Amino acid sequence: MVYCSVALCRNGNRNRADLSFFRFPTDKRLSIWLKFCRRADSKFKEEQKKAIAGKENNLRICNEHFTDDSYRKTLNGRRTLSDYAIPAIFRIYNKPETTRNERYEKRAEKRSLPRESDVKTTKKAKAQSAANTSTADIGSIHNDHTYAKTPSSDHVSEGTLAKNRSSTRTQTDVTLLDVQQWEDDQEELIRLRKENEELRQKLQNKPTIKRELFMEDVLKSDESVRFYTGVPSLSCLQMLSALLRPEAEKLKYWDRNKGKTMAYQTSGKKKPGPKRVLKLEEEFVMTLVRLRLGLMGRHLADTFSVSPSQVSRIVTTWVCFLSATFKETLLLWPSKEEVRKNLPRSFKRYPNTRIIIDCTEMFIEKPTSPYAQRATWSDYKEHNTIKALVGITPSGYFSFLSEFWTGSTSDRRITQESGLVDLLEEGDAVMADRGFNIRDILTKKKVYLNIPPFSKKGRFR
Ligand SMILES: [Zn+2]
Repeated sequence: MVYCSVALCRNGNRNRADLSFFRFPTDKRLSIWLKFCRRADSKFKEEQKKAIAGKENNLRICNEHFTDDSYRKTLNGRRTLSDYAIPAIFRIYNKPETTRNERYEKRAEKRSLPRESDVKTTKKAKAQSAANTSTADIGSIHNDHTYAKTPSSDHVSEGTLAKNRSSTRTQTDVTLLDVQQWEDDQEELIRLRKENEELRQKLQNKPTIKRELFMEDVLKSDESVRFYTGVPSLSCLQMLSALLRPEAEKLKYWDRNKGKTMAYQTSGKKKPGPKRVLKLEEEFVMTLVRLRLGLMGRHLADTFSVSPSQVSRIVTTWVCFLSATFKETLLLWPSKEEVRKNLPRSFKRYPNTRIIIDCTEMFIEKPTSPYAQRATWSDYKEHNTIKALVGITPSGYFSFLSEFWTGSTSDRRITQESGLVDLLEEGDAVMADRGFNIRDILTKKKVYLNIPPFSKKGRFR
């Protein structure tokens, strides 16, 4: 199969067996021939390279582009191209002024036309319009002849109707249709190039992709939200996110140099300082993931494509922010009557129980300072930890949380300093584990300490 390489020309030895298709010359004329084609697509460039290198190539120009004086007679009487011939007839069509609907209609007509008549009329009409000159931009035509294919259509009946209505008009409009088709192809090509460019840029932006993929993993389902963040469902997470947004937008980020003296929020409308790298949702999820899974800062930094120090800043800021926002709403100290009213049956032997306490320890990364290392070392857990006193009501509601202490601090010390004793009233009972050596502290306040007998399985009887 041979095709003419000139832009807009659809001649090939299949549809126009009557034409000659000339190979490109190897002399000085080559560049003129190449330029004449007015093509810049990759397929053409590939062939052009071969031609310039003097290699076999698929470039051809059909004899319709040559004026009559370009030929000479060979010794045996055949007409062939002269050694000086350069193509001169390039078909350029006037840009039609039609509306989108008209174009659609005409394309529908074209589809319903039989192929042979299409070809014949094309020849005639093309010859007519060959004289037309115009400066259409055809620098980037993709002339691989595929656009000559008839697209399969769902609108055949419409097309047939249109044909019956104006079949005479169709005869002379075919070249116009070619141009319209070509223009549509051009539009499509430009659109695809733009899309391709956007995708390419997006792919180059790996940090964003990594982050987005991780967020997708987290937000995939209720189950994944529970696993990564500990929040019960996706809708719950979204609700929290929306709830926090107005305040979070104004967050001022923690700075290790400024430490505790820094205010986390300002009254201004916008966040002070540099623009946020992550989206608010990403920061929120990062914080929750860190708290839930205890992932290392470095790991989160890689996942979210930020520096470890940024992770530290974000998480520290958000933890303080979340604590300030939720501590008062989620952590309530119920009255004695409320606790009594909701007392589970298993507590009937301990009806005065106001609170069940225990210390909880969390593993932390080993601090760099030797002093901090020693202070956070927990003999019990054999790890660097931080520690807090947690209290729940008999029905299981979190009613007390102390400040966090370093892992080496005793349960007794934390209980003493936590302020719990101040909340208790005379006659209350506190339930605790065996290790809690706090009876004397409570007795001063006339509060009982119940240390229930534990079975071997860790359940009290
Ligand atoms: Zn041609």
